[in-house]
Amino acid sequence: MAVEIKVPALGESVTSAVVSRWLKQPGEAVAADEAVAELETDKVNVGVSAPSAGVLGPHLVPEGEEVQIGTVLTTVGEGKGAPSKPATAKAAAPAPAASASTAPPAAEAPKSAPVAADAPSDTDFDVIVIGAGPGGYVCAIRAAQLGFKVACVEKRETLGGTCLNVGCIPSKALLQSTEDYHGAAHDFAREGIIIEGIKVDLAKMQANKQGVVDANTKGIEFLFKKNGVTWLKGFGKVTAPYTIDVAGKSYKAKHIIVASGSESSPLPGVEIDEKVIVSSTGALELPAIPKRLLVIGGGVIGLELGSVWGRLGAAVTVVEFFDRIAPGMDGEVAKTFQKILAKQGFKFKLSHKVTKVEKTASGVNVTIEKVDGSGTEVIETDIVLVCVGRRAVSKSLGLEEIGVALDERGRVKVDEHYATNVAGLYAIGDVIAGPMLAHKAEEEGVALAEILAGQAGHVNYGAIPGVVYTWPEVAGVGKTEEDLKAEGAEYKVGKFPFTANGRARAMGCTDGFVKVLADKKTDKLLGAHIIGPDAGTLIAELTMALEFGASAEDVARTCHAHPTLSEAVKEAALDADGRAIHI
Ligand code: FAD
Repeated sequence: MAVEIKVPALGESVTSAVVSRWLKQPGEAVAADEAVAELETDKVNVGVSAPSAGVLGPHLVPEGEEVQIGTVLTTVGEGKGAPSKPATAKAAAPAPAASASTAPPAAEAPKSAPVAADAPSDTDFDVIVIGAGPGGYVCAIRAAQLGFKVACVEKRETLGGTCLNVGCIPSKALLQSTEDYHGAAHDFAREGIIIEGIKVDLAKMQANKQGVVDANTKGIEFLFKKNGVTWLKGFGKVTAPYTIDVAGKSYKAKHIIVASGSESSPLPGVEIDEKVIVSSTGALELPAIPKRLLVIGGGVIGLELGSVWGRLGAAVTVVEFFDRIAPGMDGEVAKTFQKILAKQGFKFKLSHKVTKVEKTASGVNVTIEKVDGSGTEVIETDIVLVCVGRRAVSKSLGLEEIGVALDERGRVKVDEHYATNVAGLYAIGDVIAGPMLAHKAEEEGVALAEILAGQAGHVNYGAIPGVVYTWPEVAGVGKTEEDLKAEGAEYKVGKFPFTANGRARAMGCTDGFVKVLADKKTDKLLGAHIIGPDAGTLIAELTMALEFGASAEDVARTCHAHPTLSEAVKEAALDADGRAIHI
């Protein structure tokens, strides 16, 4: 009997969706849970799956048509249809990897030989990725696109890793909401927009954030189905080369990729309860706006989350061991950043270390001590956010037991092809060295999948942008002035302030500047740093320029639309040659 496939419920306020694409054709065989069509709403892109295996009936709605929730799209019934084209058949079975480091040497071949791409077994794969964060899920999808039979192991209830569940996405949702609130409460009046009785409904703000997270994590689930990636639910432990155990079942793969990511580093002597002493995960879930928030660690995550609660009214104090915030950021930019945050109400205790954190009846007492030992102070606060960095998740996956080498910080050691010292085992993302950034993990995921397919996947580590999503945003790519000084490089600086940019003035956002660093002799771009409105978007142009080996002159000669913030980028590039127009 044919079973109807209907447009599913897509969230509280969604009543209709557009059928953007049919993924399966009438008469085609489909597996249970396989995506058959793609739907688009103004909020999400989702897939519609077959509830059971069978043969697909006629398309009852053409592509591009808008349909109400509950509309019957097609049917799936019994019968012998044309075989569904599995993801693994999209490309010819991948050629053996080109590099010796990626192809298992014959002597080390596993007893159960790696499977062919079309092997029927549900425990044998070409590629098994451990972890469905940005590194793992992107690698799994790219590998499936390349024709591998792929599974991805994830122990969370949802896909997307730290980034989508408790990192980039929820933090940016809260940053957006609180930026909107702060603008409406404090800045709109300047433009003659008077809003009376403005208030925050924190529960609704948190629910909106969760909706954003759900849309993203569900999106990955759909992409897995669309690309034929099997989600192995549970904790993955490598038990031998080419072998992994997930929830008591053993699986084999030609290539096992560790993408297990990272977790908040603990601060010795400080116990996180995720209520009053929280990690970044707890700080994203606070049920009430604290009056006082003390952030231990002046890095990117602490400053972003401090901004979230500061904008809602918390008095934020940042305690930092070093004499500057945002380590790794261009020093001049970091100084300006600190000044702007201080204007917004942040208090900074630089060159201080936390020596004691004590819960009291009314909150938490934090004892801090000057790094030079010249004095101590006790700060009373309501919430303590511990943000002292992140560490690789590498210890519980059975890696050391099979002889995988880790570095002194517990990160998996890999060669330039992401291969560990154990044949058939690779690692990418936060669990290996390098900046702990979602896009760095993604690039590595793509590069590794392509390397395994015998292609020339690679990552240009000299052109990975870093962005802080505070207000204003801060972004950088390539070398900082400190890097260039340390290298003894001869360089020149081009700078342009947003106070001289017409669009920034119109937006009322004139804090900050664009700074480009170029080789003194050749004019080749070496680095770029922006603090100002939309810095995270503006840095893309300079990242591209760096990737293409452009000179400052190339950027300066490129026509930029007026009036845009991007004109500040052009002017900074002109300034590298001492010929900016508007300053
Ligand atoms: P992860 O995203 O950590 O994913 C690893 C996955 O592996 C997890 O889902 C975990 O459950 C799973 N796993 C681990 N071990 C096992 C096992 N044995 N079996 C099964 N599953 C396992 N980066 C940015 O680029 N931009 C940002 O704006 C940004 N904001 C951030 C904000 C916060 C609050 C935090 C905490 C991080 C932020 N990051 C940001 C960093 C970003 O989240 C990470 O760099 C990125 O998620 C790393 O991706 P990954 O795939 O290496 O690992």
